[in-house]
Amino acid sequence: MKKETVRFPKVELHLHLDGSVPPETMWRLAEKEHVPLPAETPEAFWEWLKTTSDCRSVNEYLERFELPLQLLQSRENLAIATHDLILLLAGENYAYAEIRFAPQLHVRKGLTQRDAVEAVLEGRAEALKSCPGLKIGILLCAMSIGPETLNMAENLETVRLTKEMLGRGVVGCDLAGAEGIVPLHRFAPVFDLARELDVPFTCHAGDSQGPDTVLDALNFGTRRIGHGHHLYDAPELWDRVRSSGVTLEICPTSNIQCKTQPSYREHPAKKLLDAGIRVTINTDNSALAAVTLEEEYAHCLEEMSFTPEDLVRMNRYAAESSFLPEKEKAELLKTLEEY
Ligand SMILES: [Zn+2]
Repeated sequence: MKKETVRFPKVELHLHLDGSVPPETMWRLAEKEHVPLPAETPEAFWEWLKTTSDCRSVNEYLERFELPLQLLQSRENLAIATHDLILLLAGENYAYAEIRFAPQLHVRKGLTQRDAVEAVLEGRAEALKSCPGLKIGILLCAMSIGPETLNMAENLETVRLTKEMLGRGVVGCDLAGAEGIVPLHRFAPVFDLARELDVPFTCHAGDSQGPDTVLDALNFGTRRIGHGHHLYDAPELWDRVRSSGVTLEICPTSNIQCKTQPSYREHPAKKLLDAGIRVTINTDNSALAAVTLEEEYAHCLEEMSFTPEDLVRMNRYAAESSFLPEKEKAELLKTLEEY
């Protein structure tokens, strides 16, 4: 099948740092930390990432994060991973990306959440010196790892840190992790605090779980939803999503690999866009999923019935829905328009 190439400057809103560390960087960090890898050479490691990217479920998918997480427990390594990922995005003609990570997953060897955020911001600043024209926002993820009471204190700390770091490269927060361990609405205190502190936020919902979780996210007052494709199963919610301008961060390959949609062809993203819902296209975890945004676009055109005009429109939606400060968002939109 012929691959169409998209040449406009790309915007991505949903990219996890731990799942997107470039494979060469993971290889280097593993050697440095003496962490065994399941391959003999960097090339074989890349092949391993590709062949293991298909999972039986979201939970199996989440287990694959253990390897990069083992490598990202020091300030230095967090800065290197962030730096290398940003250079990779610059080489793929990105205009803007929001990279998200959960500070509380990087404290195993004594870092605090604040240390982890500062390290990522250092890596970001260093990388941006050599990438004029590229903008990068950082989102801090609260985590769903069990009953909501298990890490509510850590999650609230993440939201407070987001507030403190706004304007220094951090642009908002998120709730990530396993859906469905407890009902999503029990995480309301995380979002109550985000609203109280006027922190922009998105929320993973409607991926492995049904549209009831999309409703929970809407009730939190979210402006964006991570995944959210199961909104398709509840047309009675579409009006509310349309009128509130909530944007869906759709990650097609991730959905197929986690079996939350049966195939690219059956994925409802195009139908949601045609229903007037603001859909954007993202990679979720470019390394663990072994996919680039360019490849996601190829799936969109070849298997998901999107047109090239749809891609331009969704790229603009992504820029409009970014959590960049208004002035920088206007610059980004101008860059896209000039193109
Ligand atoms: Zn995600």
